[in-house]
Amino acid sequence: MVDRPSGTQRYLKGVTLGEGTYGVVYKALDSQTNRTVAVKKIRLGKYKEGVHVTALREIKLLRELKDPNIIEMIDVYPHKRNLHLVFEFMESDLEAVIRDRNIVLSAADIKSYMQMTLKGLAHCHKKWVLHRDLKPNNLLIASDGQLKLGDFGLARIFGSPDRQFTHQVFARWYRAPELLFGSKQYGAGVDIWAAACIFAELMLRRPFLQGSSDIDQLGKIFAAFGTPRESQWPDMTCLPDYVEFQFCPAPPLRSLFPMATDDALDLLSRMLAFDPRSRITAQQALEHRYFHSEPAATRPELLSRPPSRSEGQPKPSEAPSSGGPIVLSPPNKSRRVMLPPGVVSGDVHSGQLEKGYMTMGETPNEHFGLPMSTDTQMLLRPKLNSTDRSHLKRKLDMDSAFA
Ligand code: AMP
Repeated sequence: MVDRPSGTQRYLKGVTLGEGTYGVVYKALDSQTNRTVAVKKIRLGKYKEGVHVTALREIKLLRELKDPNIIEMIDVYPHKRNLHLVFEFMESDLEAVIRDRNIVLSAADIKSYMQMTLKGLAHCHKKWVLHRDLKPNNLLIASDGQLKLGDFGLARIFGSPDRQFTHQVFARWYRAPELLFGSKQYGAGVDIWAAACIFAELMLRRPFLQGSSDIDQLGKIFAAFGTPRESQWPDMTCLPDYVEFQFCPAPPLRSLFPMATDDALDLLSRMLAFDPRSRITAQQALEHRYFHSEPAATRPELLSRPPSRSEGQPKPSEAPSSGGPIVLSPPNKSRRVMLPPGVVSGDVHSGQLEKGYMTMGETPNEHFGLPMSTDTQMLLRPKLNSTDRSHLKRKLDMDSAFA
């Protein structure tokens, strides 16, 4: 009988590719197949149960998810007190594409990236898996141009209506409004919202809604799409962290995306429906006329790619925060959040604010109203009592922990 080589013998370690939440990822050569792979080393034991659970969850899910637009997990092996997950090596990711100013993204290229993202998502959702952490740097790009959903550390099986989830998932800029309002029973719509933010980012070449706290994120969403009315999203006011926002009408979506086709805007607006029940599904999105109209999606192998990770691609830094403001009211149903000057319906400056509430700082935002920007720069000064203040501090601490 021939001895199988252990993982460490089989995978010859190369350079470090990056570091995720749970451990280092390095490049390796599979000595059996001569294939380049990426090995994610997950520390076991250090954080007790949490890491075990996350690692095992990712393994279980990935084993069940086999699709051309989902990262392939090739092998798993333990070594010392670490678990090693072996993945196909991916040259780059969508964040690097979006940030690379040498790459021109045509309407056909954007369509191609969105089609691959939605195909991967449709497969996840068909298998009752939520990704829960979609963002451009988790959309990995292979050497043949195929985009694949990666980093399933936060993925979960969904389906049971009673199942309670944590709402502190997703990088904030990609978080759906129901999550920002604290919903714990959410579904595939959260991934669709994130995919829509990525769609917008592909068109704008910068993150679309860059909130600096959960409340600021909601403010930016409502400034961009208007404050939802109860008729638009009936369950909204029942969500655990619901805060009432000053009504602000929706500016035309076209003003934010002047170059987009009507079909692209129609699909985007369906993916960004406030009520998750009305949000389009990944499968329906793939059937939308956007994907069947001209220009046809660019074939993946023809898409321009940034330099490969192993060629020393610089690590993208965090995009600067909006510099915003952001003083907010605690998540309490009786409080209202005002939108900034320029987005309110006109009567806010005249002191018609709710009693005991907040006054608007005189900080007109130069960016606001510019076609390509939805920065809100709210400056709100709530009059808070000490209970409110400690509640607010806890919320801000939580926000920064998940920033
Ligand atoms: P993660 O823990 O999945 O967030 O990965 C951390 C970093 O490792 C990523 O930002 C990438 O730079 C890199 N990485 C992860 N998976 C792969 C892969 N399959 N191929 C190449 N690089 C990867």
